[in-house]
Amino acid sequence: MVAQLSQSSLLAWYAETKRDLPWRHTNDGWKVLLSEILLQQTQVSRGIGYWLKLVERFPTPQSMAEAEVDEVLHLWQGAGYYSRARRLHSLSRQVCLPLSEGGYDGVLPTTSTQLLLLPGIGPYTAAAVASIAFGEPVACVDGNIRRVMARQTKTANPSVKEVEHWAKRNLFKADAGDWNQSLMELGATVCTPKRPKCDDCPIVLSCSGKNDALSYPQPKTTRRKRLDLMCELRYDASGLPLLVQRGENGILAGLWGPRMAEQIEVDSLRFIGEVKHILSHRDIFVQVWLGTCQQGLDPETLALSSLDRKVLALGSRQ
Ligand code: SF4
Repeated sequence: MVAQLSQSSLLAWYAETKRDLPWRHTNDGWKVLLSEILLQQTQVSRGIGYWLKLVERFPTPQSMAEAEVDEVLHLWQGAGYYSRARRLHSLSRQVCLPLSEGGYDGVLPTTSTQLLLLPGIGPYTAAAVASIAFGEPVACVDGNIRRVMARQTKTANPSVKEVEHWAKRNLFKADAGDWNQSLMELGATVCTPKRPKCDDCPIVLSCSGKNDALSYPQPKTTRRKRLDLMCELRYDASGLPLLVQRGENGILAGLWGPRMAEQIEVDSLRFIGEVKHILSHRDIFVQVWLGTCQQGLDPETLALSSLDRKVLALGSRQ
């Protein structure tokens, strides 16, 4: 017979051992939102530097709304998943619209229901921001919480509904922000995917799956996609590369870089090598072909992805 999940043990453990992360020193909704959007697909250790740069340059929704999207993309360089930066910029502009035009007069809304209506905000981000910054008693569900739930309840393949139900049932409503963060922190630091530290776990007494933790949850079988591209890397006489801004759609939307496509004409170009770029859901292989151009651009002044910078690094070694 397992015990009930002890909220007080988990909250006490969190208060004592939580990582000192810069966004944990603020309850400014906009700054919390920036951290949550960054952490959607960027590791915590890398996210810290990006968050510090973002809050310094864009301390309010107004400051971002008044900037061009290119500047947001420029700060986002290297963080990946650039559509997040574009949607964040749209969000800031929507928040800054007058109330009469469907905006919020520059003040971030405070409820998860309102947040969910903004660009780039899904149920997780809405619940995280509303609970952490505004104290709304609403439960979060992310990958860490799903893993803790699966192990606590010995459920091999919990559905989203089942995880939501468990998270709601166990929510500590008096401090939902700390509660949600404590569960996520447990999943990130103790109940980890490969090496759960059950001996250090504050909720071990209620855990049905602790003796066979690695069986829960069962890994999802997702097949990685492969994308093969060709790149036309041209330099002018002073060594600056020809860069173009990409369109609104696609994985590198809005960013600058050398021209890339699935097929390019290579008659006057020289093959110099292949660049491999791994994203969480796909592997990109880029064949790079070198040539000349009349007039290049300074890449340091533009927003480029990590993939583009790898291609330029290969070109600079020729
Ligand atoms: S006892 Fe182990 S498996 Fe269970 S929640 Fe804690 S760390 Fe995870």
